[in-house]
Amino acid sequence: MRALTLTDTRWLQLRDRPAPTLSRDDDVIVDVAQTGICGTDRSVLVGKFPALPGVVMGHEGVGRVARVGEYVEHLRPGDRVVINPTLYCGHCPPCQHSRTNHCRNKRGTEVGIDRDGSFADQIVLPAAFIHPIPQDMSFDQATLVEPLTCALNNLLSAGLDPGDQLIVLGGGPIGATVAALAHHLGHPTTVVETDPTRRDLLAGVLPAIVGQDATPIEVVEHAGDLPPSQSVIDTVGNLLPQALDLVAPGGSVVIMGYHSHAVAQLHPLEILQRGIRIVGAGDYPGNLFPRALHIAGQLPLAALITHRFKLDEFEQAIELLSPNGAGYSALKIVIQSGPAS
Ligand SMILES: [Zn+2]
Ligand SMILES: [Zn+2]
Repeated sequence: MRALTLTDTRWLQLRDRPAPTLSRDDDVIVDVAQTGICGTDRSVLVGKFPALPGVVMGHEGVGRVARVGEYVEHLRPGDRVVINPTLYCGHCPPCQHSRTNHCRNKRGTEVGIDRDGSFADQIVLPAAFIHPIPQDMSFDQATLVEPLTCALNNLLSAGLDPGDQLIVLGGGPIGATVAALAHHLGHPTTVVETDPTRRDLLAGVLPAIVGQDATPIEVVEHAGDLPPSQSVIDTVGNLLPQALDLVAPGGSVVIMGYHSHAVAQLHPLEILQRGIRIVGAGDYPGNLFPRALHIAGQLPLAALITHRFKLDEFEQAIELLSPNGAGYSALKIVIQSGPAS
């Protein structure tokens, strides 16, 4: 099969790889239809996040079940599915307490990072991580379920009360997803995005997601004039000091963007006196995935998809992810492996 693998020099290469096999009785092989490119994929390619050379990248995958192992009961060949790429063992102490995101046996299980992902014709995963999608849900919509689960985990960790205000730093696909979800849950939301092209893109797609009549999600260039907010979510990953400036006393700051080189200087006394919670939500626990799948049925996030490319057009896709003179010209980009429906 065809697969996009990570090279030693942090680039992608289209290679011929052996198709996956059913090595466990609960394995499921999926014919991949398409996979969203995630900010994490970009971080890997620009050296901001580690991944295993040689791995097949891609983790926001959807497709149709091709074959199932002997013990698989909830899936049949032909079923349309979305993959949950955040694997866990299910039997270590954190997993036993529903904190599967802190599973102690994660090494070698991060799909598209250190276990083969879905920028390929096929992927194999244990059945517990393959979710059927409703008949009326498009593959485009299903492709956004995984980032929506991340957004849900981070938003819940912010600990907002109904009606509380939220500021989202960064208006990329994940910032837009967090904002759309927060708005859907009733929080007045402002997105701060310095890139003018991205601001225009957001202004174009957000009404399609949250509706024209609703209170709009504000998209601003600078955070300076904003009133303090109950929570600030940093989807970029290196904006902690700015987030602390924007949060109201008693509020929370959530670090969401992956940025392994970011360092920040803090004033502990100020955090103490203002009663600020600094939260790292990280990976989502497995039980959030079905919840996000349900919400995805009500929130037309597919409008975030601005570009699609075939597997062998990946270089064009990556090019769009690096800001050129005109700024970021894409929101969600998908890589298509197979037929689109
Ligand atoms: Zn992702
Ligand atoms: Zn575990």
